[in-house]
Amino acid sequence: MSYDYRLNKDSDHSPKQNVVDPMDVVTKPSRIENDCIVYITSSMDANEGVEYNFICEIDGLSYSLNLDESQNASFKEKMSSGELVSGSSILKNVIIDSSDSDSVILSPEVSSIEFENPEAAGEPMVEKGEKWTKNFYGTHYVLAIRVIAADNANTDNAEQISDNIFGTDGDQINLISQTTACSYGQLNLVAGANPNNPISEEHYAAPGVIEVVIDIEVTGKRNDQSAVQNAVIEAAETLTGQNMKRACDHLMIILEGKRGKLAYGIVNGYLSVYYGDAYSFAAVQIHEVFHNLGFGHSGGMNGKEYSDHTGLMGNPFTKNADEMGKICFNAAKNWQLGWYDYDYVDSSTSSCWSGNIIGLSEWDNGIHNLPVVVKIETGGKNDYFFQFNRDTGINSENKLADNEVVIVEADKDGKKFAPSWLKAHLIEGESYTIPDFRATGNDLVVTAERIDTSVQPGIASISISLGDGCAAAQDSFLLRGSNEYH
Ligand SMILES: [Zn+2]
Repeated sequence: MSYDYRLNKDSDHSPKQNVVDPMDVVTKPSRIENDCIVYITSSMDANEGVEYNFICEIDGLSYSLNLDESQNASFKEKMSSGELVSGSSILKNVIIDSSDSDSVILSPEVSSIEFENPEAAGEPMVEKGEKWTKNFYGTHYVLAIRVIAADNANTDNAEQISDNIFGTDGDQINLISQTTACSYGQLNLVAGANPNNPISEEHYAAPGVIEVVIDIEVTGKRNDQSAVQNAVIEAAETLTGQNMKRACDHLMIILEGKRGKLAYGIVNGYLSVYYGDAYSFAAVQIHEVFHNLGFGHSGGMNGKEYSDHTGLMGNPFTKNADEMGKICFNAAKNWQLGWYDYDYVDSSTSSCWSGNIIGLSEWDNGIHNLPVVVKIETGGKNDYFFQFNRDTGINSENKLADNEVVIVEADKDGKKFAPSWLKAHLIEGESYTIPDFRATGNDLVVTAERIDTSVQPGIASISISLGDGCAAAQDSFLLRGSNEYH
């Protein structure tokens, strides 16, 4: 009855069985003790607040975890340290309390969390923004579900939902258009089920959208997130005869508005859930789908996890933004993506670096041969990343630090689920200083020597000096032409 979800979690779209086995359709487990896979969900509210929840998955269904305060703190600490990997860590022998049939609760022993880290067995991580994960490339199939719940349904119909997410009726900025733009066609989101695990045409209410009826409420007191998710998935699987996890890479659940709630995405999972009109904003759609792909948030200089408005993981478009969203990701996330050209500063072997960078919106598939993102290796897990926030084209609705050099810091070498933090944004002539860099006793100073937006692509000339490392080179640096130094 159960299936190994790991076999279905990849998105390589290798041919899979077309025949629908009715036993594939998930059902609630009846065992009293079980092992489950822990997922992190990241919610955004109407005031740019961030909330993390932990859910457990058994046989494709999600369950809330009944965590006391210290367990919750422990989960968050393990999330930060990377010990808890969403979609990978296994919680052993949780007790299932199914006294309430809608909201099965799991009671874990935090001390018994066991971990698997699939990356450890995989290929070694490579520097310089190389394509270290296939998550961000190729074709991903996206299904949306309009939910008719016991109490309400989204006021938009299936056709409107299809248009707002997939642009099927002229919507200009949507999940597909902006993802294609930011990735320069390297990540192609496609509306509808994977053709290897198809859903029959008659089950679609509009392109890429199916409609299901559930008999529980989403706004009342009994509004457990997992119970709603499970009800929706069960209804969709009953309707289509298809296992949802096999049918698509991303499943977007569209609900009616709920006070204060906008949306949430499951980290390294395939689900995202939207309330009211938030689903129609491309910037919210992409934000949640990229939680599925493992992205953390982009925090700002005020210490809030959501206030780096130079990129979609610190989302500036959470209100009235159906037709906004020409913005991509910040430097740390772009390093993680590997979509552009990159450079890498190893401060242990070089005390002076200088070079030109261009904005992602003028990257133009690498023909300029200039980096979009530069990583400054610190030797530890927290590294620095910077890019030129060129305010044109696909990045023209960026909400902060237009045409400035933007520096962010990110944990886990900028490669895994972690927030990034905005450290500085520099206009021409400004510097950012990291004191006592690598405990050398010397400061590392990043300077935006020159910013030129009169040329195409626009150029930011950067110098990075450890101590007086660039003093000797400085004069010649300023005199040289735009492309020849590195
Ligand atoms: Zn988020």
